[in-house]
Amino acid sequence: MRECTGVNCVKTMKIVLFGPPGSGKGTYATLLKGQLGIPHISTGDLVREEIKNKTPIGDQIVKYSNSGKLVPDETITQILKRRLSTPDLSKGFILEGYPRSIEQAKQLETMVKIDVVLNLNVPEKAIVDRLSARMQCRNCGSIYNELTLKPAVPGKCDKCGGELFKRDDDQPKIILERLRVYEQTSSPVVDYYRSRGLLKDVVVNDPNASPDVIIKKIMSLI
Ligand code: ADP
Ligand code: ZN
Repeated sequence: MRECTGVNCVKTMKIVLFGPPGSGKGTYATLLKGQLGIPHISTGDLVREEIKNKTPIGDQIVKYSNSGKLVPDETITQILKRRLSTPDLSKGFILEGYPRSIEQAKQLETMVKIDVVLNLNVPEKAIVDRLSARMQCRNCGSIYNELTLKPAVPGKCDKCGGELFKRDDDQPKIILERLRVYEQTSSPVVDYYRSRGLLKDVVVNDPNASPDVIIKKIMSLI
């Protein structure tokens, strides 16, 4: 963690969390939020909120989100800009889901100065195993895992008793395809931040390592 010395020094941590689908981003972001006491901003969550609240922007973007396509840069940037202007971010934030392109990285630079970009490196096999075992509640959306986070009663949600199902795109072949797409779209952004000296690789060698171990690793990097 960076040292902060001056009397009036306000330590801020503006973090971008980067990693492939199934790398555990959401879990780590939640834990980091607890450790650092700063908010977690997920552009995916912001998008879902706009849609749920049926705002004018929500109505405009629902078609992209429903078909798994990216929302146009201009719109997602507008949504993020508004979130970044709220007063709870004085000590920093953990941003997840943005930027997804060089264009978005440049936009972000005009809004805020990022301190560090954490790049989660998880072996492909671990991601396939993890996502293949993922299950979700049809009723409340809670996530389970047949390997690591089993429900008390097989096939039933602990929280609401709803039926658990597997997402259609959580099959090995499709997972590999999603990873290819991620690789293609994210590698220019990773290079962009690496060349600016902001990127820190978080190497997850052991796919079964507990999230706490990874968080310790991250804390030692920032
Ligand atoms: P996924 O892992 O399926 O991409 P997210 O929760 O990250 O899910 O995002 C949900 C949806 O929100 C995406 O499918 C996309 O339509 C939109 N979205 C989120 N972040 C961005 C972004 N940075 N640029 C464009 N669209 C985005
Ligand atoms: Zn449920």
